Amino acid sequence: MKKANHTDVAIIGGGIMGSAIAYYASKSGLDCMLIEKNDIASGTSSRCDGNVTIVDKDPGFDSQMSLASQELTIELNKDLELPFEYRELGSILVCDNDAEMEAAEDWVKIQKDAGLKFNVLDREDIRQESPFFADDIPGGLECETDSLINPYLFCYSLVERARKYGLKLKTHAEVTNITKKKDFIIDTTAGKVTAKKVVNAAGIWAPFIGEMLGINIPIVPRKGHIIVGSRSEPVMMRNVMEFGYLMNKFERERIADPLTQKHGVALVLEPTESQNFLLGSSREFVGYDGSININVVKAIAKRGLRFFPKMDDFNIIRSYTGMRPWTEDHLPIVSEVEDVPGFYIAAGHEGDGISLATITGKLIEELILEKETTIPVEPLRYDRFKKVPTA
Ligand SMILES: Cc1cc2nc3c(=O)[nH]c(=O)nc-3n(C[C@H](O)[C@H](O)[C@H](O)COP(=O)(O)OP(=O)(O)OC[C@H]3O[C@@H](n4cnc5c(N)ncnc54)[C@H](O)[C@@H]3O)c2cc1C
Repeated sequence: MKKANHTDVAIIGGGIMGSAIAYYASKSGLDCMLIEKNDIASGTSSRCDGNVTIVDKDPGFDSQMSLASQELTIELNKDLELPFEYRELGSILVCDNDAEMEAAEDWVKIQKDAGLKFNVLDREDIRQESPFFADDIPGGLECETDSLINPYLFCYSLVERARKYGLKLKTHAEVTNITKKKDFIIDTTAGKVTAKKVVNAAGIWAPFIGEMLGINIPIVPRKGHIIVGSRSEPVMMRNVMEFGYLMNKFERERIADPLTQKHGVALVLEPTESQNFLLGSSREFVGYDGSININVVKAIAKRGLRFFPKMDDFNIIRSYTGMRPWTEDHLPIVSEVEDVPGFYIAAGHEGDGISLATITGKLIEELILEKETTIPVEPLRYDRFKKVPTA
């Protein structure tokens, strides 16, 4: 009989990573427990957008990892019982000026050469997308395979299915300490748990879990604001971002007004299934302070009107913030930690965690079971951050 306070695999964090890992690991027959300090999806995974995109990924490994995740998400849409508002409509990036348009054309060529379904959109294509767009938008690009989900529902749907595969769920249990003897001994505010293996899927809090075992995890919160708008008439059917979003995300040079630059604002407009829309977003390093800054909200609204001037009489319902788990090379850590065998990290997905959750869950399951991995995991290793000693 399985013991209630022992598990083969303890997964810490019930966000989208922990939920996806719980699903794939339980499905493959592993004895798993998901430990969450609050409720499922109470961290960043319920304070974000729901884009499962390649359009905003760097060409190369980043894009290929997203493609693998998109393919798994299509399968999950068939396997999971609770619907999670999956919509496969593609997504678009719009350009602010001719210089961005030139860069967008190059971007499409690189992504197409890599076998991805990208197309250049001209001024007329943009008009066809939405009558709300500003007349002076020179064009943009689209990625045909991008999709949208409701991340909050997705977490619950994964956990619900995982429970049917035998997952033990322990919510309102904050992990306060971990020691390693033969097994890991995990202290939580709801009792002790022992585990043969531990997966740290605690998002921006992953460094605190690492500290418990003397491991330095270089993940930093990168705050984002979102405005929830009420849609009086449909603006767009699919997700739209501006090309400058890429410049912000990858910290590259960009032409924009000082306020937009200061708060790292770039347009993202996501139509939700409930007929509202999410307007974002910003990128700032301000520690763990999740409070709303009205100046950022104003900057986002102003940027939205640059691209959708006819939305100036639309109503706003509320705004919220979330914290992206940022790493300096813009790739997550999906890896076992060599110095602490049996301890895995699945965190640091910055603004891509919704897009990359399914492949992350699958990879952790494969690493634990020492299977061949779906994609190469070398670029995701934890030890890439170990400092090279200077001569
Ligand atoms: C504004 C914004 C927009 C975004 N839009 C997108 C998008 O469109 N597409 C995309 O791909 N990504 C997007 N992202 C990024 C995405 O939301 C994150 O990468 C993702 O949610 C991270 O998931 P996670 O499971 O790693 O972390 P979280 O969801 O934060 O989960 C970590 C969990 O660990 C728990 N935890 C922490 N410490 C402990 C402890 N000691 N004991 C037990 N449990 C603990 C927390 O309570 C939390 O539930 C966006 C992010 C933001 C902020």
